[in-house]
Amino acid sequence: MKLSVVRYATEASAKVLKLAGALLIVLFFSISPIIANPFDQKVSLVVIDAGHGGHDPGAVANGIMEKNLVLKVCQKLARMLEEDGMKVVMTRTDDVFLELEARCAVANSQVWPDGGSAIFISVHANSSSIEDANGYEVFSAYDDNPVDFLNESTPSVQGFRFAAIASNEASRLCAQKSNLLSERIVSSISSRLPEMRSRGAKEADLYVLNCSAMPSVLVEIGFLSNPDESRMMKSDSFQIRMAQAIKDGIEDYSGK
Ligand SMILES: [Zn+2]
Repeated sequence: MKLSVVRYATEASAKVLKLAGALLIVLFFSISPIIANPFDQKVSLVVIDAGHGGHDPGAVANGIMEKNLVLKVCQKLARMLEEDGMKVVMTRTDDVFLELEARCAVANSQVWPDGGSAIFISVHANSSSIEDANGYEVFSAYDDNPVDFLNESTPSVQGFRFAAIASNEASRLCAQKSNLLSERIVSSISSRLPEMRSRGAKEADLYVLNCSAMPSVLVEIGFLSNPDESRMMKSDSFQIRMAQAIKDGIEDYSGK
């Protein structure tokens, strides 16, 4: 009697396992077109990261604090992207301090909308001891940066996008897209703000770019330490044009 109960239980659990396996296979093939290159879908989610905040003012020069200026640009950018139908998540919406890890965790805890992809945009302003230093520049992580796509912040449903792709291949594809995004934003800023100097699209070893599991760039919108540039950056019209330029760059990238 006891033995047959055990056998029955074993057969039942084998059936459950088979069913679960079959379901996983069906699920795999139903999402496989998405995970071929999860970064190739149209951008439908933008994580916007205003640099610094709270007790960390960032650069301070010519009466401007970087944390306040970049938040204004980010808020304008968020509104514009939302008006164009994109989902926007901001790492901070007011003057609070956030560790760099927390900024990445915001990005990595997102579930990308079905059929869409996500990007991460961090916005900063520069400062230099050389007063003449000026212009904007956009950074992406180094090509060989290994990204942890299945980290502790990854929601399990989001993990499926990356589960069938080797992590080094996912990192390579992600780096390619980050470079492309960086180039697109540089070129759209040069169209919207032709009077500014372009310092170009560059690669750098920056924490928020290295740890965000999505194509990521950091935009340095100009030099607060340059008296002429900081005067311009203070104005609402500059902040609107810069936000429009970043939005244009995202849309150019998304259409490619
Ligand atoms: Zn900064």
